[in-house]
Amino acid sequence: MRLDLPTLFLMTVAVTFMVGVLFLLSWSQTRRERALAVWGIAHIVGSVASLMLALRGQIPDSLSIGLANAMMIGGYGLIWSGVRAFEGRSLRLGWAVGGGALWIAACLIPSFFESLAARVSLASTLAGLYCASGALTIWQGRDEPLVSRYPALVLLATYAGLYWIRLPLAFTMPIPASVAIASPWFAILCFAGTLFSVAIAFVFMALTKERAEREQRLAAETDSLTGIANRRALVAGAERHLAVAPAALLLFDLDHFKAVNDRYGHSVGDAVLAAFCHVADPLLPPGAVFGRMGGEEFACLLPRLDERAAMRVAEDVRAAIARFAHPDYPELAIRVSVGVAAESQIGGSLDYLLRRADDALYQAKHAGRDRVVAAGEDRLPLAEAADPSTGLRVNAGRRSRTRSP
Ligand code: GH3
Ligand code: MG
Ligand code: MG
Repeated sequence: MRLDLPTLFLMTVAVTFMVGVLFLLSWSQTRRERALAVWGIAHIVGSVASLMLALRGQIPDSLSIGLANAMMIGGYGLIWSGVRAFEGRSLRLGWAVGGGALWIAACLIPSFFESLAARVSLASTLAGLYCASGALTIWQGRDEPLVSRYPALVLLATYAGLYWIRLPLAFTMPIPASVAIASPWFAILCFAGTLFSVAIAFVFMALTKERAEREQRLAAETDSLTGIANRRALVAGAERHLAVAPAALLLFDLDHFKAVNDRYGHSVGDAVLAAFCHVADPLLPPGAVFGRMGGEEFACLLPRLDERAAMRVAEDVRAAIARFAHPDYPELAIRVSVGVAAESQIGGSLDYLLRRADDALYQAKHAGRDRVVAAGEDRLPLAEAADPSTGLRVNAGRRSRTRSP
């Protein structure tokens, strides 16, 4: 197979330009992801640079060497800047174009412009620096678990490595440009460059798509008022844990919450619900699955905790919420009743655990509220207290729905 150099250059220009346009189109649809616009511009700048490099000998050297490489370096700078935008950092456009500006300044020095080794060194150092910084930025953002992060990191780090390998070679094996261009390796390098453009575009697109999907999934699993898991996510998480380990379940119900709404208004009621989660969440042990069942009722599955340990957690939350003071309404007392049930077997039923915790909660309400009551390991649900046709229980202290996930 023969790799024809002009054809390769043409392909690189066309593919890079097309990828740039696709990035911009993709950005115009969502607008939220600024990185797409920056990567689009980076690719278009890179394609113009490739075109000028390809016209070497047909246009002045100041354009095909000076400006073309400045734009190529600028393109890498923008790739880095786009990665920063993707990670929610500032674009640092000054730094992104600074490499290209430095290159142009160096080219104004005749001895630099005439030395192939010096030119290769500076261009490779700058392009490699942008690629390596991009890889580092992607690594630093790894708290957001996106699988495409790793191919992007490997690609950028490999490219930085390839650029930096050229540094010692430029001095130890200085090959005149005319000889280098004639070598089949040069064609292979061009081909690899095109593949890199396509591969990096592909992983960047995959990154943005993966993030959008993750955000949608999280939104579908999150209660919008409190930011904790909604009932569906809570049930799914709790069932996953129960299948592999014993666990305890806490069921919280804010006391006389209707009176809070009636007296202070619905928005203060909303703030109280959010405050409850804010206070409770840090008190829960690692691995706890905490979510809102609905209204002013919350549940928390505590994997591998027995009833006594779970009661201690529940008591901590109860006491902390009793101490909480609303900044605008210090007289507003928030209290919570908690039902606790534990399952000592692996593969327990969440439905059964919920019903036992609900029974315990019912007793806590009945006994005067603002307390923690345990169901007891062997206690059966108070099925007789429920109306089987409606699933509702009526009691002087509390009217509640027997829950099923
Ligand atoms: P108990 O101590 O027996 O639990 O009494 P309670 O008043 O807390 O219980 P009840 O079930 O009578 O009232 C619950 C109230 O919670 C009624 C409903 O308006 C309110 N509520 C449910 N969801 C929300 C919400 O998202 N925001 C606000 N502000 N109120 C809500
Ligand atoms: Mg309730
Ligand atoms: Mg209540």
